[in-house]
Amino acid sequence: MARDFDIVVAGAGPVGLAFAASLAGAGLRIVLVDPQREAALADPPDDGREIALTDRSVGMLRALGAWDRIPADQVAPLRRMQVLNGPSDYAMQLGPGGADGDMPGRFLGRFVPNHWLRRSLHAVVQGLPGATLLPGASVTAVRPQGDAVMATLSDGRVLTAGLVVAADTRRSRLRQQQGIGAALHDYRQRMLVCPVAHPVPHHETATAWFEYGQTLVTLPLNGGRSSAVMTVGEADATALLRLDDAAFGRELTRRYRGRLGAMRPVGGRQAVPVVTAYAARFVGRRFALLGDAAVGMHPTTAHGFNFGMLGQHALARELRTTLAAGRDVADPSALARYEAAHRAETRLFFAGAEALMRLYAAGDSLPARLLRNGRCVWVTCRRCARSWPRGCVNLTGAPSHRRTRPDSRPSWLAPVVQRGTCKTRAMPRSRPSC
Ligand SMILES: Cc1cc2nc3c(=O)[nH]c(=O)nc-3n(C[C@H](O)[C@H](O)[C@H](O)COP(=O)(O)OP(=O)(O)OC[C@H]3O[C@@H](n4cnc5c(N)ncnc54)[C@H](O)[C@@H]3O)c2cc1C
Repeated sequence: MARDFDIVVAGAGPVGLAFAASLAGAGLRIVLVDPQREAALADPPDDGREIALTDRSVGMLRALGAWDRIPADQVAPLRRMQVLNGPSDYAMQLGPGGADGDMPGRFLGRFVPNHWLRRSLHAVVQGLPGATLLPGASVTAVRPQGDAVMATLSDGRVLTAGLVVAADTRRSRLRQQQGIGAALHDYRQRMLVCPVAHPVPHHETATAWFEYGQTLVTLPLNGGRSSAVMTVGEADATALLRLDDAAFGRELTRRYRGRLGAMRPVGGRQAVPVVTAYAARFVGRRFALLGDAAVGMHPTTAHGFNFGMLGQHALARELRTTLAAGRDVADPSALARYEAAHRAETRLFFAGAEALMRLYAAGDSLPARLLRNGRCVWVTCRRCARSWPRGCVNLTGAPSHRRTRPDSRPSWLAPVVQRGTCKTRAMPRSRPSC
């Protein structure tokens, strides 16, 4: 059957765009379909999301030509991180230089606004020969037929291709339409984000404070600002969104217990529902899932986009290998290798993070308090967090652990058996901790 395109990508979000860019020069005809208008794709509005990037993601973005399109003043360094548990006096400290944290010139990661990631990747894809953007339409159905697959669009058009890749969010409609199940969990919480100015310097330190009933995070930004990120119940989020700026600032200062002094909102507030997803399969016949559609991490873990970058890189690598061998673009063994590699990278971390996040979302019941303060949970926290700076989310710049088999140990597990890069220590609660 004649094919209009080699690959249809459903979703021109950051991961779909990065995937198309990763296949530059492979001689493929790729079309990206997205319901958003062209203007919103080319110049996305600020959604308040600050994405913590690993060195590996930065390296991939650089190789794709997207990194240099992000203005330097939009990139904020993350030098240290501390994690606090309820009213406990102990804080887990994380830094690039081992237990004592700092190493001159080394960072734990970098923050970039999500809208700049999207804008720069869009600009890269727009300039690629063989890549076409189809804004203003969504893919509504995918049907494999013989040696091709038909993608039906919301405007009635039908595109014929060799492979459909769905990067259409964690609530992926195409995943469902293809009969692929997913472990979906709705936390019935909202993550509320807002940029704030404050008098106490953040020292390029992020703080995650797992309180009872809410998680409060501050992410250090340039210009002495921070992004306040609060994970709260739905009713609480609605009430917080209704406050005027002055009252919201006072409420933030109170909830963050004045750690950064009086906080003043300097931008809009955005709230997103907290839903996680892990697909039962990442591939089907002439079909693959990417990004949040495959692995939708809890946003507090700061892993979603970084995992998305790993996934798109793995799929593009397998497709290039299969094309070089003269095989079809939807060769089942290539898709299976992608699935195995991406599952190995993500599965354990997703499960561990889910267990912790559900425990922290469980409120302040006695069992939850006992579990949270139990040594094994705190050690799990430390191990999860320890993996954050080194492996998959290789925030330190150390060369990533290279796997030889698709089902071998995920790269982020390596540091768990290496020398520690974090420590737990008593933090005085009376003075600001960063
Ligand atoms: C508050 C917050 C903070 C975060 N912080 C971090 C962080 O620090 N680090 C990190 O790594 N990750 C972070 N994440 C996660 C990260 O934002 C996501 O993992 C990432 O955006 C996923 O990209 P994606 O392209 O898979 O999906 P999306 O960004 O959701 O894009 C999907 C695209 O698909 C389109 N679409 C939907 N349905 C269809 C259809 N049927 N057909 C065609 N197109 C369709 C949509 O219009 C959209 O453009 C955060 C998330 C949140 C909410």
